[in-house]
Amino acid sequence: MFAPGGSSANMYAMVLSRQHAFPQSKHKGIRDLGELVMFASEDSHYSFVKSAIWLGMGTASVIKVKADDRGRMIVAELRDSILKARKEGKVPYMVGATAGTTVLGAFDPLPEIADVCHEFGLWLHVDGALGGGWLLSTQHRNLLVGVERADSVTWDLHKLTCAPQQCTVILTRHPSILCETNSLRAEYIFQSDKYYDASYDSGDKSIQCGRKSDTLKLWLQLKAYGRSGMEAAVNNVYDMAQYITEKLRERPGFKLVMDEFESNLISFWYIPPKMRSNGHSLAPEVLSKVAPMIKKRMMDCGSLMIGYQPLSTKQLPNFFRLSITCFPESNTRDMDFILDEIETLGKDILL
Ligand SMILES: *Cc1c(COP(=O)(O)O)cnc(C)c1O
Repeated sequence: MFAPGGSSANMYAMVLSRQHAFPQSKHKGIRDLGELVMFASEDSHYSFVKSAIWLGMGTASVIKVKADDRGRMIVAELRDSILKARKEGKVPYMVGATAGTTVLGAFDPLPEIADVCHEFGLWLHVDGALGGGWLLSTQHRNLLVGVERADSVTWDLHKLTCAPQQCTVILTRHPSILCETNSLRAEYIFQSDKYYDASYDSGDKSIQCGRKSDTLKLWLQLKAYGRSGMEAAVNNVYDMAQYITEKLRERPGFKLVMDEFESNLISFWYIPPKMRSNGHSLAPEVLSKVAPMIKKRMMDCGSLMIGYQPLSTKQLPNFFRLSITCFPESNTRDMDFILDEIETLGKDILL
């Protein structure tokens, strides 16, 4: 099913998994089900929490599981959280793993998480909004090993693979669950006595009524580039990410947030020359002001658009978060330009 964005797709997963565990909830709602809870890593996307508000389960129903220093869910913590929730009388219904976290681009260990889901009889959703695109590459699809055991998967084609916004699929291995969850058989539009084949009409399985034809964006992209063209573009992203990581490692004034990155999100600090005191590290609150200042200059002169952010779960002050994507295909000159330009824009800063 195409959904209007990864946030909506994650909400789909929460409803589908709930429907799967509690078929009666379609009619009776959740009032008799006890305190439903789902689990996602502390680095997971906020859409799980937002969806929990909309679905009447509340923000407290999303239990955050600790991530390791590279942003991957710690599976032992997941197990402990499930056991603790059960002991407290809560009712687990889903685990939301992330394949490509929004900030660090980390991939949760899907095979181990799938084992835990199997052990406790929980629905495994994989939020591959960011990372799903790596499946197009035979070279890099191992990043998502274990995804084949998921009950549902979110994949944003508008992220890594740059389809026009929004172009998202929610995939599920349960063929009838979309229908069971959403179908109301509205007679003005989903007549059951049509004299033609309506089996491809997905309307009754969707949360939306009128919809944009998001499929067309993917279809056109595949027509234009072909599977091999898409694969080459994805592989190029990986190569460029490796290239710029290497440059960032060597170049004075730049500092990587992690030694290595798993995919296309590269996070780093830039420390202007006048602020590089020999041996002393910069106070976090001072360093935190550099990226916003350079970002302002980027926007003023229109040369780059690179986001920045802090990471509060790891107490990291504002850093640049570069997202390398498929189209237009970038090359090493572009990567060099990014670093040169940040240096040019930031060289006189002294805070
Ligand atoms: C971006 C993102 C989302 C939300 O997707 P939208 O298409 O922006 O709604 C969900 N999960 C992850 C991991 C993301 O990076």
